[in-house]
Amino acid sequence: MADCIFCKIASGQVPSNIVYEDDQVTAFRDLEPQAPVHVLIIPKKHVESVLGLGDEDRELVSHIMCDVIPKLARELKVAEKGFRVVANTGEEGGQTVKHLHFHLLGGRSMQWPPG
Ligand code: AMP
Repeated sequence: MADCIFCKIASGQVPSNIVYEDDQVTAFRDLEPQAPVHVLIIPKKHVESVLGLGDEDRELVSHIMCDVIPKLARELKVAEKGFRVVANTGEEGGQTVKHLHFHLLGGRSMQWPPG
């Protein structure tokens, strides 16, 4: 999508600190990290949020959840102590960028409930 910042990151038009990339997925460091490890995992194709996912995206989501996130958590050394995966969705969910992204946060103790 032309005016989407995460599409621009995925296509390389906007620079970012990429920690993982394959043909379907890009993962990069959050600009304003909320934890010592704060990475965003996005599909390269534009999907607005989890609500925009369809049957055709089952393999993509399982790839992100089953392969990419566990691999990154191990590589970024947060797997052992624990981490959080968040997909803020919509206005009350706190979503500010309307391109589906999973936050991977770790390296400190998390609080519950979140703010
Ligand atoms: P959310 O509020 O859940 O939609 O998360 C959007 C996240 O994207 C925030 O944590 C921002 O700090 C982050 N962000 C926005 N623009 C960029 C960018 N150009 N590079 C890296 N992270 C970004």
